[in-house]
Amino acid sequence: MSESNKFNSRKISSFLPTDTRIFALGGMGEVGKNLYCIEGDDEIIIIDSGLIFPNEELLGVEYVIPDYTYLIKNQEKIKALFITHGHEDHIGGIPYLLRVCNIPDIYGPEFAIALVEKKLEDARLLANTTLHVVKNTTDFRFTSKHFHVAFFHVVHSIPDSYGIAIKTPNGWIMSTGDFKFDLTPVGNNSDYQIISFMGQFGISLLLSDSTNSAVHGFSISEKQVAKSISEIIAKTKGRLIIATFSSNVHRIQQIISGAIAHNRKISIVGRSMENVVQIGRRLGHIHASEDDFVDPELLNTYPTNKICILCTGSQGEPMAALSRMANASHRYIKIIPGDTVIFSSNPIPGNEISVNSIVNSLTRLGANVLTNSLLNNLHTTGHASQEEQKLMLQLVKPKYFMPMHGEYKMLKTHADTAVETGVPEENIFICANGNVVVLRDEEAFLWEHKIPTDDIYIDGNDSSGIATAVLKDRSILADNGLVAAIVAIDSRTNSILCRPNIISRGFVYIKEGQMMLKEGELLIYEALRKKMQQKTTFGELKNTIRETLEPYLYSKTNRQPIVIPVVLNYIDSEFRK
Ligand SMILES: [Zn+2]
Ligand SMILES: [Zn+2]
Repeated sequence: MSESNKFNSRKISSFLPTDTRIFALGGMGEVGKNLYCIEGDDEIIIIDSGLIFPNEELLGVEYVIPDYTYLIKNQEKIKALFITHGHEDHIGGIPYLLRVCNIPDIYGPEFAIALVEKKLEDARLLANTTLHVVKNTTDFRFTSKHFHVAFFHVVHSIPDSYGIAIKTPNGWIMSTGDFKFDLTPVGNNSDYQIISFMGQFGISLLLSDSTNSAVHGFSISEKQVAKSISEIIAKTKGRLIIATFSSNVHRIQQIISGAIAHNRKISIVGRSMENVVQIGRRLGHIHASEDDFVDPELLNTYPTNKICILCTGSQGEPMAALSRMANASHRYIKIIPGDTVIFSSNPIPGNEISVNSIVNSLTRLGANVLTNSLLNNLHTTGHASQEEQKLMLQLVKPKYFMPMHGEYKMLKTHADTAVETGVPEENIFICANGNVVVLRDEEAFLWEHKIPTDDIYIDGNDSSGIATAVLKDRSILADNGLVAAIVAIDSRTNSILCRPNIISRGFVYIKEGQMMLKEGELLIYEALRKKMQQKTTFGELKNTIRETLEPYLYSKTNRQPIVIPVVLNYIDSEFRK
């Protein structure tokens, strides 16, 4: 952070039991695994419990979740978990959290709770907590000793998205959840009146969505996207294949209505899409009769211009329906010249290459592929751009501000935007996970210390997760390989019994590396001999091996393999015979 601004300057070294503390175990410095806590005296309430999908550098990892240690240690304080909406970065961690921590009650909007219920059923965890649907935000009240919690509607890319307002003994806290402002939304509207009434009332601390803080202007309306897609459906002659985010139920509804209006049958392809369409129809977000749908295996019985296929895979996910169509391995759907494929999505940063490769494959098979651009409006974001962020800041007029849900750059840009709307720099806290903002008599401070946090990796086999250290090892193994140095000693006589032996895997091609490893063995031998002239321990001997071998191998190869010293004691082996 530059010297010139005063962000994070209001510091405090200790807190009182009467203070209210706000911190994130996930979601600060990243887009994903959101988990925010409000703690006061003997109570903690949690907002959201998400996961994040890892980047490709994390080998063999399926999900990343926050480190729940702080919550496990303080679990008797936990009163409830509040869910803002049903995206994976807000609900995906719940099964993992419930396995290790007692959460008596979970409150959330209907659509999110339906998704959570399905997750908990699959994980056999339904009995571990009580799920509560918050249907009418104005009637809902949650009250504990220190906290009163209320929800309000926001617009986002999934139905039933809520923001949260919390009355604490030290002032009101408001969290926007993920939001955008859409003046002509599809589905729920934002509760403008409640948000501005809360602002009038006086909000001490606002936490607000920073995902699109670098995007200027106002994002386009969902209605505009619906219009663009409908126009394409109207003029397309052949078969239509549309890929979008399965959670974007309003978009799915718009596509389905467009298809019905132009006499096309809809086929839902991809498990997560089927799941969401089923829940969406049950909860009344998707209106269509059974007659409007057709099973993928029956598609061939209809003329191509009577078909609209709605599928998953808009992010180029290799196992998803669209990828299978692109590499001609889908069971029922083969791409034929004349097909039109629409990506009603944008690639999430990091997915551009795989999306691009699928676009090329589909084109090669003869499809006309349309992706979102400034000209055709095939997609809009679910997150507020700068002008919408300003509108939220102006409606709420918070005394203190804490940008959330974003990488560091996004948080910083959001902080700058807040300054433009009149929030003083010294009243803004740009936090990392584990940073604690202390609210005391409607004044906020940044605690000088941190709650320990980490990333926990879930790799499918082990539901308890693995910590950062293991992942580091895997990555070193993949890049640099492994070297084991085995030495046999006799601790009674303090002597080395035979020359050390080095075994390597994935480090150097053995033939070429032979000389180098032999030299390494000699170096270890010399170093150990020296060390063993005085009294020593096994730990020290192992360290000696590492300290000798690591710099040597690095100087020879510029690589840092994992070095595993193995010291065998003659006495031990005697004992075992
Ligand atoms: Zn979201
Ligand atoms: Zn989110």
